[in-house]
Amino acid sequence: MSLFTRAVVAVTHNPVTRRLITGTPPGRALASRFVAGDDLDAAIRVARNLADRGLSVSLDLLGEEVRDRPMAEAALAAYQASLDRIQQEGLPANISVKLTQLGLVFDPGFTRDALDVLAERAGERGTTVTIDMEDSRYTQATVDLYASTQARHGNLGVCLQAYLKRTPQDLERLLPLGGHIRLCKGAYLEPPELAFQGRAEVRAAFLRLLEVLMRDERVRPAIATHDDVLIRRTLELAKERTGPFEFQMLYGVREPLQGRLAAAGHDLRIYLPFGSEWYPYLTRRLAERPANLVFFVRALLPGGDSRGIVPRP
Ligand SMILES: Cc1cc2nc3c(=O)[nH]c(=O)nc-3n(C[C@H](O)[C@H](O)[C@H](O)COP(=O)(O)OP(=O)(O)OC[C@H]3O[C@@H](n4cnc5c(N)ncnc54)[C@H](O)[C@@H]3O)c2cc1C
Repeated sequence: MSLFTRAVVAVTHNPVTRRLITGTPPGRALASRFVAGDDLDAAIRVARNLADRGLSVSLDLLGEEVRDRPMAEAALAAYQASLDRIQQEGLPANISVKLTQLGLVFDPGFTRDALDVLAERAGERGTTVTIDMEDSRYTQATVDLYASTQARHGNLGVCLQAYLKRTPQDLERLLPLGGHIRLCKGAYLEPPELAFQGRAEVRAAFLRLLEVLMRDERVRPAIATHDDVLIRRTLELAKERTGPFEFQMLYGVREPLQGRLAAAGHDLRIYLPFGSEWYPYLTRRLAERPANLVFFVRALLPGGDSRGIVPRP
């Protein structure tokens, strides 16, 4: 991560910045660029629009680092409701879950049971569950829980982060389990002992993992990036692949590129967050593209305009 990116992370973790962003119209406008809305109905409306344009979605109920059981139970119930709606609406969709939202911080047993419940419900509704990858405090537990739950149910997937130095080993371990593996660069601030820091290094690590993943027919690769170099290499590797794979991109990021890939007939899934707990998610999107924060600051200044606050990348 560059110094500038680290500075953005520090600024957005400051409580004053948090109040400024969550409590002002420009802040909420900024969030609406990346978040479907506050509730499931809003997410379903956006998912329907995307489906009409040939895109599938992964519904992500915002929330992480949950510290008490009622909140983890509420998240579980909301995800069950999401799976029911996916089937009722006939949407090409699955769900993406964060294990700390399902109690990993205080009760890993609850998390394991919750994942079982979701995998089973998803199976009944004809869809799948993807496990997001959070920061490195949770990598081992996430990989372990994915492996055991996938072995029982067979309809899960997990995200692996190219910037982590341990990921080649995790990938080798998980490939025999089938499922879908989402490869991304990684969005958290990690120390140099654990993670590659420079942009070029992270891209090179992604390319190495991409070769392995795209050449393995046991899994469905989900290539989660907006980086042209990585997308081009994926398309080259796809020519030699017999099984399916998909691209994944974030809602609100590089929409013209999303349209081009879908129009060319490639499977593309949009990661679609919804819910009121959007601040931590937004801070990661700002760190990836600090220019987003500049537009927000401009909108706050006297005479600033919060309409069209973040230009379409
Ligand atoms: C579907 C999906 C799921 C993900 N799941 C996880 C996860 O579980 N765990 C995790 O750690 N990370 C996750 N990520 C985030 C990922 O790790 C990266 O932080 C993020 O995708 C940016 O990396 P990039 O590969 O797009 O490359 P970058 O080099 O960051 O971006 C390439 C180009 O895309 C555009 N772009 C990228 N990000 C933004 C943005 N925020 N705003 C505007 N333009 C942007 C810019 O034009 C940029 O030049 C996920 C990403 C996607 C797409």
